[in-house]
Amino acid sequence: MTTGARFCPRCGGALAGPPPTACPHCGYAMFVNARPTANLILLDGDGRFLSVRRAIPPRAGLWELPGGFCDGWEHPADAAVREAREELGIDVELGELVGLYIGSYEYQNELLPVLDAYFIGHAAEPTITLNAAEVSDMAWFDLADPPPMAFESMDRALRDAAKVR
Ligand SMILES: [Zn+2]
Repeated sequence: MTTGARFCPRCGGALAGPPPTACPHCGYAMFVNARPTANLILLDGDGRFLSVRRAIPPRAGLWELPGGFCDGWEHPADAAVREAREELGIDVELGELVGLYIGSYEYQNELLPVLDAYFIGHAAEPTITLNAAEVSDMAWFDLADPPPMAFESMDRALRDAAKVR
């Protein structure tokens, strides 16, 4: 598992070490920054939150919160709304930001830092239709007693959300 590029994206030359570093061939400066994600703690009226089961790697089969990576210049609040539409087939009303968390994401044999934003949300329509390409199952859990999540920042965000409810 590596933490990113071993070759310069500008000239293709080998880097002397992991980023942050400058390419010894052309001087291009390489950085590793946390990639932003947006995630939802979708609440019902009884203090329960919605969890979905991952259908795809990494961590397929584990419970997680709806969400995903922000596109390009997309604001995390917009990404959270978009992900609910894509994964759950619903519009959501966003509530407060629970917090920002630094986590790790393994994919394509790379370990990448991520900056995970968690928002409270409420479904704006009653019928959830899961996107089977991304998630395989759903369940409502008590916010005070969540199951282990696929990613550690989800466990932390759920604990923090439970404190203020
Ligand atoms: Zn270079």
